[in-house]
Amino acid sequence: MRIRTEPMACIASGACRRTAPALFGADADGVVTVLQPQPAPDQEALAQDAAAACPAAAIHVEDEA
Ligand code: SF4
Repeated sequence: MRIRTEPMACIASGACRRTAPALFGADADGVVTVLQPQPAPDQEALAQDAAAACPAAAIHVEDEA
């Protein structure tokens, strides 16, 4: 799994960091940063939860080819 974000779409709600603080952070403006682009298997459900929690649909979790 790979996490991809769209910083230009992020509205800095912080939902991703609250849902999965090990995977997501924020820059000085509160815009999402990815701490773990390739989450461990036991973190994949959290990554999915964070993507679902994002009000801007700015987080995508993708299976790696
Ligand atoms: S949940 Fe979405 S809008 Fe909120 S900080 Fe994370 S990426 Fe940005």
